[in-house]
Amino acid sequence: MTLLLELMAPFEAQVAMPCTDEDPELFFAESPSDIELAKLVCGPCPLRQECLTGAVQRREPHGVWGGQLFIAGEVVARKRPRGRPRKVVEPEPAIELPTREIAAA
Ligand code: SF4
Repeated sequence: MTLLLELMAPFEAQVAMPCTDEDPELFFAESPSDIELAKLVCGPCPLRQECLTGAVQRREPHGVWGGQLFIAGEVVARKRPRGRPRKVVEPEPAIELPTREIAAA
């Protein structure tokens, strides 16, 4: 976010970026609800496309940029909450039903 603010400093007087009114930590939050809030903040930003393009080009390691969440340089839809990994549910084994021969009448 600091880099973005430095890059955008010459334009700040001309363009209102919603993120400048928020705590920068919101854009690097851990909680999924805060991340979704950060995405909403980006929604009306006039520099959204430029911000997103720059983040993609820089392969941002994490954070919300241009209304999208970046993790390890990739855009991801949602951040999974911390905690135990999901249990792998094994599929039920197929049950072979006994076949019944139909007697000819
Ligand atoms: S898209 Fe979001 S993070 Fe980027 S400049 Fe706009 S408000 Fe800030």
